[in-house]
Amino acid sequence: MNIILLGPPGAGKGTQARRLVDERNMVQLSTGDMLRAAKDSGTEMGKLVAEVMAKGLLVTDEIVIGLIEEQLETVEATGFIFDGFPRTLAQADALNALLGRKGQSLDAVIEMKVNDDALVSRVTGRSTCGACGEVYHDETKPQPADGKCSNCGASEFKRRADDNEDAFRTRLLAYYRDTSPLIGYYYAKGQHSAIDGMAAMDAVAGEIKEVLDKA
Ligand code: AMP
Repeated sequence: MNIILLGPPGAGKGTQARRLVDERNMVQLSTGDMLRAAKDSGTEMGKLVAEVMAKGLLVTDEIVIGLIEEQLETVEATGFIFDGFPRTLAQADALNALLGRKGQSLDAVIEMKVNDDALVSRVTGRSTCGACGEVYHDETKPQPADGKCSNCGASEFKRRADDNEDAFRTRLLAYYRDTSPLIGYYYAKGQHSAIDGMAAMDAVAGEIKEVLDKA
C-alpha cells in the first residue's frame, strides 16, 4: 500500500507517518528529512539546498524527484508513506511514473486539514528528539523535565532552522501556491480523502486508519 500525507507545514504529517511506520511496518519517505540529512552530512547537494530550505522556499523538482527515485529503486517495502512529497504537480506526475515503473500505484492521498491560525504556533514551538524524532511542543508537550526523551531516553533535542515565523510564512505560501493544486488533482483521480488534522493525535490516527482500511 502506497499513500501520500498531504498538508501544510505543521499539519502533523511527520508525526502520523512515524505512527504508521510503527503500526503497519511501512517505510516513510520524507523528502524534508532526506534534504536535512544531505545538509548535515555536507554533501554538494546539501550545501546547494541549505539556503533554499532555511528561507522556506521549495527545492527544485529535479533534486527531490531524484531523491525519491533513488529510494524507490533501492528500498523494498510493503508500502511507502510519502511525507512532504509530492509538493508540485510535476512531482505528482513523476511519482505516478516512478510507481508505474515498479508496477505499483497510489492507494490513498490523505489531506490533513488544519486551521491556518493554529499552524504558526505549532511550528514555532516545535522541537524533536535528536535520536528518535519524537516530537515535542513548548506549550502542548514540553520536553521532559529530566532532559531525557520520553520515547528513547536520549538527551539531545533539535529545532529546525526553518521553524521560525518568517520561513513559516514562506512555506505556507509555497503550500498554497504550488502544493494545494494537488488536492484537486488527486480528487479528480478519485484518490483524495480529507481528514480533520485539528483533532487530537490519536483521533487523527483513527481517521487515517479508517481511510486506509477502505483503500
Ligand atoms: P518538510 O520537512 O517536509 O517541511 O520540508 C522542509 C523543506 O525542505 C521545505 O520547506 C523545502 O525547502 C524542502 N522540501 C522538502 N520536500 C520538498 C519537495 N517535495 N519539493 C521541494 N522542496 C521540498
